[in-house]
Amino acid sequence: MTYVGRFAPSPTGPLHFGSLVAALASWLDARAAGGQWLVRIDDLDRPREKQGAADAILKWLEAAGLHWDGEVIRQTARLERYREALERLERAGLTYWCGCSRREIADSALSIDGARIYPGTCREGLAPGRAPRAMRLRTESEPIVLADRVQGEISQSVAGEVGDFVLRRADGLFAYQLAVVVDDADQGVTDVVRGADLLDSTARQILLQRLLGLPEPRYLHVPVAVTAAGEKLSKQTGAREAHIEDFPRALEFLGQEPVSDLAAAVRNWDPARIPQLRSKRAPPAAPSP
Ligand code: GLU
Repeated sequence: MTYVGRFAPSPTGPLHFGSLVAALASWLDARAAGGQWLVRIDDLDRPREKQGAADAILKWLEAAGLHWDGEVIRQTARLERYREALERLERAGLTYWCGCSRREIADSALSIDGARIYPGTCREGLAPGRAPRAMRLRTESEPIVLADRVQGEISQSVAGEVGDFVLRRADGLFAYQLAVVVDDADQGVTDVVRGADLLDSTARQILLQRLLGLPEPRYLHVPVAVTAAGEKLSKQTGAREAHIEDFPRALEFLGQEPVSDLAAAVRNWDPARIPQLRSKRAPPAAPSP
């Protein structure tokens, strides 16, 4: 069996407990399978990037003993690949230009991830005098069924629950959904292990894989670490940088034996014990070392 896993942090700040959980789960799953583990810096969204964060994340992983295989890839070095994929979809008639502003679709129904379901205004062409802003995918209502290794079977109609989503944003940036699919395929990723905040994006990604003729990886979504108020841990919700001392807590969060050495954690790794939850309260922080 070949196994290629990956961790794809966005360089928006230091790794916090939630990102440690995602990094550790994907590393352990790869190592327990005797597979490779890649690190990719998801730095496509330049405006959200924090100077120095990517290097700090890599140093952190290295110091923690979460060693990766091969070269670290940065999305900003791969724009040509995203452009090619987008052109293939365009040539197949699967995309269209949209001239709507966010305000113009603000009244549409809420989509599964809290954004708006695009009402299809520009699907048949831009109205005269409207400038193209974003490029969207013509989605299909046929449900996408995904067998997540932890979350079980998930079925989602992308057209019905998300709508025609953006592939190239109004600011000219390629959308995460397109980039992640191209990256995972180019890197030969067989297993995506990440936080369940991305579970609702997975059907969009599988749809794009099918339309582009790319292989579909296996998926495993671990619970997202949330605050007592139910908010995802982030800089905004006051999450501090993770410490190596947080490893046992992260293992416990994942339903595993809270051992402190990585070799034992690999030996004990049992994905069947990961809680089948989309989110879970983060444990109280470890005292600062
Ligand atoms: N860069 C994304 C994040 O930090 C993760 C992308 C992925 O794992 O597909 O949330």
